[in-house]
Amino acid sequence: MPAYQSPIAPGRSWYDDSIERPTYPALDGSRNVDVLVVGGGFTGLSAALHLARTGVAVAVLEAHRFGDGASGRNGGQMGTGQRLWPMEIEAAYGFERSKALFDLAEEAKAHLTEFITANGIDADYREGQLSVVHKRRYLKDYRAQVEDLTTRYAYPHVSFMDAAETADRLGSRRYFGGIRDTGTGHINPMKLVVGSARVAAEAGAQLFENSHVERLDRRAGRIVAVTAHGEVSAERVLIATNAYGGGLDPQVDAHVMPIGSFIGATEPLADTDAVLPGGESCDDSRFVVRYFRKSGDGRLLFGGREAYTSATGDIGRHIRKQIAEVYPHLANVRLSHAWGGSVGITMERLPYVRSLAPGITTIGGFSGHGVMLANFAGRLYAERVNGNRDRLADFEALRIPAFPGGRRLRAPLLFLAMTWFSLRDRF
Ligand SMILES: Cc1cc2nc3c(=O)[nH]c(=O)nc-3n(C[C@H](O)[C@H](O)[C@H](O)COP(=O)(O)OP(=O)(O)OC[C@H]3O[C@@H](n4cnc5c(N)ncnc54)[C@H](O)[C@@H]3O)c2cc1C
Repeated sequence: MPAYQSPIAPGRSWYDDSIERPTYPALDGSRNVDVLVVGGGFTGLSAALHLARTGVAVAVLEAHRFGDGASGRNGGQMGTGQRLWPMEIEAAYGFERSKALFDLAEEAKAHLTEFITANGIDADYREGQLSVVHKRRYLKDYRAQVEDLTTRYAYPHVSFMDAAETADRLGSRRYFGGIRDTGTGHINPMKLVVGSARVAAEAGAQLFENSHVERLDRRAGRIVAVTAHGEVSAERVLIATNAYGGGLDPQVDAHVMPIGSFIGATEPLADTDAVLPGGESCDDSRFVVRYFRKSGDGRLLFGGREAYTSATGDIGRHIRKQIAEVYPHLANVRLSHAWGGSVGITMERLPYVRSLAPGITTIGGFSGHGVMLANFAGRLYAERVNGNRDRLADFEALRIPAFPGGRRLRAPLLFLAMTWFSLRDRF
């Protein structure tokens, strides 16, 4: 068996330094449970805690530490709806299903805010999201989006911003207009991971870190997950490995691809009101999206993607360039942290939820929109296992094709596609 290669992208994140992370043991020996969860990000921890609370014997095996995947390294922006706009989903699936997916996402949002409040998790929640336009010709689509959301989707929290309002709210004249959404917000994702693990452990879930699942075997009607120093035998398995699961299941690998996304954190800003004075988070209209917000302690956390090497200095240099495009007065700002992570994307930019084999389900591929959805999907999995409701079926019914190119050509083809989109964003 070749040594396990960590797919974790480089750099210590600012989130790592914002909270003490308790450690959990590595699996040693054999265990029997009802449900085994592979992967300790939002999806896996949420599934585990909701199962444990209903008396299901559940274990989580995480290859690294909880939150070391996308869940502890992301932009923290909750967003509204799915990754695609409702109009785009409607074009493929019709209004009724698009509305059902929108309503599910609204429930996901409420679930997250209620969960952190009910469990005393201080995740630094701040209200407000701005989605801004980097090319003038996109303005009419953004206007239409507001119209649609407020009327047909009965979502009253959005308004269209002209260039002047956008400049005031951003503290930058770089964008041409956008949407203001007061019905959502942003969080410190690592604080949510740490809180979720605590709640799951309190509910009785068995949590293991540094326990990479090498393979899943079938023995006597049960599924057995094998790690370097132990085994867990279960009736059911949830594969919640998202973009990080390379090699565990070929079907997941074919449908959920990792793409790098990178974030830089500045030192606390001297004049915090000069940047996003209302404290909202922001994402822009690029296909290779840029996203930024201020942290609780007044830093600018700025994310984007280019074809970076794995050196953190390189990430910092590129992120600073992008910061300076939006905030010229910060051209020489010092970055205290620069890091990257793998976003799990699908061909359709909608989640990949499938029953892979009897007893084995996978959930992932939230395509940069998992902060609220992944947490909720974990709860929906618990509902399915308990036979209560099956709202996971709404996601499972989505048509998500495999990435073209087969095992060897998938990654180079995706790289070419991303490079093309990034050029299109620029020119
Ligand atoms: C830089 C970045 C910025 C992002 N920004 C946003 C944002 O602003 N808003 C938003 O909504 N979404 C954002 N996302 C996406 C979001 O973070 C993800 O959708 C979400 O965290 C997915 O959670 P998950 O639990 O499904 O997967 P992950 O958190 O990736 O967890 C998967 C886990 O599985 C583990 N694992 C893999 N293989 C094995 C194995 N064989 N055995 C054991 N464990 C294994 C990994 O170590 C990992 O911890 C961003 C992602 C990144 C990387």
